[in-house]
Amino acid sequence: MPGVEGKVALITGAGSGIGRATALVLARGGACVVVCDINLPGAEETAQEVTRAGHRAIPLRVDVSQLDEVEQAVAHACAAFGRVDILFSNAGIAEQVPLLEMTEAQWDRMFSVHLTGTYNCFRAVLPGMLERNWGRLISTSSMGAMTGGVRLAHYCAAKAGIAGLTVAMASELARTGITVNAVAPGVIDTPMVRQSPERWVERMLKTIPMRRFGKPEDIAHAVAYLASEEAGFVTGQILSPNGGSRMKWC
Ligand code: NAP
Repeated sequence: MPGVEGKVALITGAGSGIGRATALVLARGGACVVVCDINLPGAEETAQEVTRAGHRAIPLRVDVSQLDEVEQAVAHACAAFGRVDILFSNAGIAEQVPLLEMTEAQWDRMFSVHLTGTYNCFRAVLPGMLERNWGRLISTSSMGAMTGGVRLAHYCAAKAGIAGLTVAMASELARTGITVNAVAPGVIDTPMVRQSPERWVERMLKTIPMRRFGKPEDIAHAVAYLASEEAGFVTGQILSPNGGSRMKWC
């Protein structure tokens, strides 16, 4: 297991799916976990799973689209564990709607949760990381940022924005001891995907050379690597665990 022992990790969207699995993997690696989600019962359940397994976690209700809420979460994390070393900005929403039926409110919400949410998280944790000359910023893009997706223009555009923000910040922080990377998951079996129309789910499965959806842990272990001491020379990367979905001849 890559080294995260003794680190403090703040994870958004950690009350479900990929965020919950990552909280458990990082905690097993010896990190303390700040479990943030807009869904407090979900965050509490994740934190209980972590503590039942003998590790340290606190649950917080945080809406990542609100900078003041993210800043308060970082303040709570510092009060509980002293600092934030690792950020996994992962909170997200999904909905499928054709562009011409999409309201401005739907477009804006997609960007405020994903892109502004990631910006808010980076902004809130960076000052402390810069003081200590060490940090790991990990964001969540999507394979869809590169492949597109029907009725997902707002989602794919926001996820492409996250990829751009990630690479830009990796350049800006390259000489600080802080690395900035993203995961861009393929289709992962989480509540987000299970809420999609069955026909879409069946079609997606046929596009995956491995003929299976990813498990949340498939992403969690990629995040654990990017968060680790050993990944100190890795920055500006978009790592896409996707079962080979971008290969053409399978
Ligand atoms: P999930 O199981 O639905 O988990 C996402 C969590 O984020 C939920 O608990 C959700 O709460 C929370 N959330 C939503 N809006 C929030 C906000 N404003 N502030 C804080 N938390 C908020 O989904 P997942 O599949 O694990 O997705 C995690 C991330 O991976 C997302 O960014 C998603 O876009 C990305 N991703 C997923 C897949 C996939 O196939 N699953 C593929 C590519 C990328 P509510 O349930 O209350 O909304």
